[in-house]
Amino acid sequence: MTDLLAARLIRDIPDFPKPGILFKDITPVLANYAAFQEVIDHCVGWASGKAPDVIVGIESRGFVFGAPVALALGLGFVPVRKIGKLPHDTIREEYALEYGTNAVEVHRDAIQLGQRVLIVDDLLATGGTAAAAARLVETLGGTVIGFSFLIELEFLQGRAALDGYEIQALLKY
Ligand code: AMP
Repeated sequence: MTDLLAARLIRDIPDFPKPGILFKDITPVLANYAAFQEVIDHCVGWASGKAPDVIVGIESRGFVFGAPVALALGLGFVPVRKIGKLPHDTIREEYALEYGTNAVEVHRDAIQLGQRVLIVDDLLATGGTAAAAARLVETLGGTVIGFSFLIELEFLQGRAALDGYEIQALLKY
């Protein structure tokens, strides 16, 4: 795991976007072709055994990782976005933040009944965002066959919010 080039490139940014948060900056991974390709290859290798029908990516870094995974697997890509960004008919799921709530949306016609869906994002923290994305998929009749993350912040216990789902994370902190 730690022999991944990506592990050496991810930067810790203290107090971003607010005090007390140690932000994992993955942009140096994206800027390095070998590191980016390595991350995508790992995800594709894991995902191909699960036979997904479609890849869902969570805004916004889930788009950057999810789209190349979808293309490598010969699959389509579906964006889950923050509210007010998707132009067509949408459904919405709220999730709790430390203070208040947030929400994500997906197009109502984006997932077909019975489709096997793999959800991709850059980082698993509390799991609230990923769990909301799973509820969107399931509301539309899809089956969530797993989650793939580049990074898991284990101390935030996001796996508890995704209990019962298969989760792959390349790097754990
Ligand atoms: P959560 O819903 O708490 O699991 O948060 C996951 C989302 O927030 C992901 O889309 C991440 O990109 C972002 N995120 C949360 N914590 C961090 C962090 N420490 N560094 C970078 N991104 C984060």
